[in-house]
Amino acid sequence: MQKTYDLIVIGAGPAGLIAAGRAAMQGAKVVVLEKMEKPARKLRITGKGRCNITNMRPFNEFIQEITPNPRFLNKAFGSFFNKQIIEILDEMGVETITERGQRVFPASGKAWDVADGLVKWAKKQGAEIYIHCPVTGIIEENKAVKGVKLDDNTEIIAPCLIIATGGKSYPATGSTGDGYRFAEQLGHTIAELRPSLTGIETHPSFPQLNGLNLRNVNASLYVDGKKVDEEFGEVEFTDYGVDGPCILRLSLKAIDAFRSGNKVHFSIDLKPALSNDKLFNRIERDATKGKSYTVNMLLRDLLPSQLVSVFLRHLKLSSLKSAAELTFDERNALINMLKGFNLNMRGHRDWNEAIITAGGISLNEIDSKTMASKLIDGLYFAGEVIDLSGNTGGYNLQIAFSTGWLAGQSAAEKLKER
Ligand SMILES: Cc1cc2nc3c(=O)[nH]c(=O)nc-3n(C[C@H](O)[C@H](O)[C@H](O)COP(=O)(O)OP(=O)(O)OC[C@H]3O[C@@H](n4cnc5c(N)ncnc54)[C@H](O)[C@@H]3O)c2cc1C
Repeated sequence: MQKTYDLIVIGAGPAGLIAAGRAAMQGAKVVVLEKMEKPARKLRITGKGRCNITNMRPFNEFIQEITPNPRFLNKAFGSFFNKQIIEILDEMGVETITERGQRVFPASGKAWDVADGLVKWAKKQGAEIYIHCPVTGIIEENKAVKGVKLDDNTEIIAPCLIIATGGKSYPATGSTGDGYRFAEQLGHTIAELRPSLTGIETHPSFPQLNGLNLRNVNASLYVDGKKVDEEFGEVEFTDYGVDGPCILRLSLKAIDAFRSGNKVHFSIDLKPALSNDKLFNRIERDATKGKSYTVNMLLRDLLPSQLVSVFLRHLKLSSLKSAAELTFDERNALINMLKGFNLNMRGHRDWNEAIITAGGISLNEIDSKTMASKLIDGLYFAGEVIDLSGNTGGYNLQIAFSTGWLAGQSAAEKLKER
């Protein structure tokens, strides 16, 4: 590695690799410093090892999946969006397929192929990538970037720097929140960091249901008794509470409300296709099947078998009781539980399990047209380190790619002006 470059990129995740490649493509001498033993470790485990690369939803729908200010990404998405990342991967021999929900995956089903494709692409553009290179500090003089310090005190000098260190979640992948510390030391404000897209700890919890995945249910989120959002799809029971796509998508709103001291609960409609009346009629009809048709049989016809004993205990019903003998109140209680299986929030999973970090470097201090710091000359940001977060569905990686592209391009343009 040399001692001076035009541009240093900290972090060889998706944002850093795209940023480095884009800047090198325009003639900049670029080095990417990655602290782990391999580039893009997190990318390699995304989408349960399959990597949901991006989403093909139209722009207006796409940005609705991003908080807190999706319009901040207008220029970044305008410069580089879903089709462009697919083109780059295609150029590197990584074919993609679009699945349910417009989600794009590598055709091979391997996140590793995406990671290796991006590394090769960045190198092909001329970027140098070094592993085992933890940056420990940024050298700044008169509000301008001068370079970085590595853990062995080596100094690498460059007039431009992109912080692409990712968030704080899954720290074993290398994303330990260093970029927030660097930015803070340079005077930037960090919007409160919270784990997002993560499991919710509930009371009661049902460890005996661990692994039970409910499909086609509707999960509603209530804050202080008021419904604030809902999601249709899958909910998974865990030993601590609930997880799965619906819960992940509701998790940030739930976590924010919970951390503000509000009472939060989830209500799962196990039979969203049936109204209360329809359910009542169905139970009435089933009850005519004869005295030997027990409550246990009725519940087994309505629910996954693991949930039957939970219902019997909660409703204080004997499994051997004849369904025909259920009182009006008992039938109503059963229907209410089917339509609203309630779970109070008592906490959430931490950084080790959260898919992303909400919060980050304040958008007010970044120029959305360039991704440049408004405080320090030559400093740029890309990826999850910025106060932007997306839902599950490929949105977070697209944020990383697009902000990376714009940051790399802007840094290269600035270098040309010098
Ligand atoms: C389990 C899991 C599954 C996910 N699945 C998906 C998915 O399918 N689709 C999707 O869109 N999003 C998914 N995400 C989110 C997505 O992976 C992240 O949003 C994305 O990786 C962020 O990219 P980034 O480049 O900003 O940061 P990162 O990918 O976190 O990369 C940052 C890099 O910087 C390096 N670094 C940090 N500090 C230093 C330092 N001081 N010196 C040198 N290097 C440093 C890190 O080692 C790391 O390699 C998933 C996340 C997880 C945890």
